[in-house]
Amino acid sequence: MTKVVAVITASTPGEAERQARTAIQRGADLVEFRVDRLRDLNSADIRKLAGSFGPRAIATLRSPSEGGGRPRSGLPRIAVLRELCQPGFGYVDLELEADAKDIRDLRVLAKRHRSRVIVSRHFEDFVGASKIRDTLEASAAVGDIAKAVVPIAHWYEALEVVDLARSWAAKSKPYVLIGMGPAGAVTRVLAGDLGQAFHYAAFGAEAAPGQLPLRSAIRVHGPEPFVVGLVGHRIGHSISPQIHEAALDAAGLPGVYLPFDVEASDLEPLLQSADRLRLRGLNITIPHKERIASMLDELDGDAERLGAVNTVVVDGGWAKGFNTDVYGFRISLRALGLRLGERDALVVGAGGAAKAVVHVLLREGARVQVANRSASRAEALADSFDEPLDVVSLDELPTRGPWDLLVNATPAGMEGHDATPPVPESVIRKAAFVYDLVYNPPSTLLLQVAARLGKPATSGIEMLLHQAAKAFELWTDRPASIDAMRRAAKEALR
Ligand code: NDP
Repeated sequence: MTKVVAVITASTPGEAERQARTAIQRGADLVEFRVDRLRDLNSADIRKLAGSFGPRAIATLRSPSEGGGRPRSGLPRIAVLRELCQPGFGYVDLELEADAKDIRDLRVLAKRHRSRVIVSRHFEDFVGASKIRDTLEASAAVGDIAKAVVPIAHWYEALEVVDLARSWAAKSKPYVLIGMGPAGAVTRVLAGDLGQAFHYAAFGAEAAPGQLPLRSAIRVHGPEPFVVGLVGHRIGHSISPQIHEAALDAAGLPGVYLPFDVEASDLEPLLQSADRLRLRGLNITIPHKERIASMLDELDGDAERLGAVNTVVVDGGWAKGFNTDVYGFRISLRALGLRLGERDALVVGAGGAAKAVVHVLLREGARVQVANRSASRAEALADSFDEPLDVVSLDELPTRGPWDLLVNATPAGMEGHDATPPVPESVIRKAAFVYDLVYNPPSTLLLQVAARLGKPATSGIEMLLHQAAKAFELWTDRPASIDAMRRAAKEALR
């Protein structure tokens, strides 16, 4: 049975003890004292920590060459390790390389004090499955629990590590195998599913990139953990991970939402690996919404109609695409009390989001104009609808209008993009209501201009929340807590 370990990185023994007590109260099975992070540690402190937490504690002196700090005691490593092996910690972590010549002696010492020995190796760069397997074999030969940690930069490296972990688990030799970094987080989420001895979780600050917070680690500890996530490229700006984490937490489901930053060529291999990664669902974002549509087994009505998918449900090898942007935009119009039947709307942009918006506006009975930087894409968008659509060039806009609704469906104003509004003030002035699909930052220059002109306006946050809630329900068959999602969004955008 996998034990959840809260990693304690406090810098003083007193603070470490306090944090460890809290972590155990909050449900951690074990705590790991990162002794290399502790300042001014003396023998009495070590005995006190072991006396208080003994069987529920791992003592780890991570060496600087494997990502550890340098304890200020000034004692040589071997002297500190000898001290850690004597007072009766449940486990002591030794390193396959740094402690090579001393491991056997230290293990004898540890055994005498009823401590089990973890033998670990932290690689600096990704190494393939055969090297990791050899390392686990070597660690298992000299320790009670073999541990290997390897940095992961791409989802397919994480898949290789997950596959190796599954085959190693069949040997019934206790082990831990971690893919480090955000791209490797799936190896932690599936720790229980993969039969790993420990799931190391963050308590406060992460001790290693990709660690789950303790609360999430405890949640995924149940049977059948699953992964949902966001597939796109350059997705650092997204707040979907925070929103979905809040909904999963509120529902108490054993799932975690992870980012998958992938190139277009990786979409199909990722879908094919869904079962191995316990992937139950995905959100799709820029730039893959349209491309992925042709790779799925089935499309829901809106996704098929638009040829754009923002949500995929994976079930038993069958991948079905949905477009919950349509739902999100439609519900947000209702929430705002905007009725667009027989009204005039201007949509700026001609990508996937613009298509969803136009689709909803046409169904509401609005008269829609579309303007885009590249006219050909606006024409293609118009051609994809049966209803008549007016394509207007950006230059022509100042001579058109007024509009009951102006929607920005471009990334202009979004974090990391050009902040300039996609249309000039003279155009904004002619709109009765301004809707910016951009939600990060919450107040774009476009919204600021609208406010200055006294126009009612909204950011894309409500649409985001409603599309996310719909996706959550499709993946989990459970209602999403919009309130929890909204609180998480506000917190993430502060
Ligand atoms: P796409 O990449 O599919 O399309 C982007 C569109 O914006 C294209 O028409 C592009 O024009 C145009 N564009 C890009 N940059 C600029 C610029 N600086 N000035 C003017 N036009 C520009 O993106 P999406 O349609 O998927 O997303 C568009 C925006 O909507 C994003 O900001 C996204 O975050 C937001 N969005 C918000 C949602 C929400 O729930 N609130 C949901 C979905 C999207 P061209 O064709 O010439 O390249």
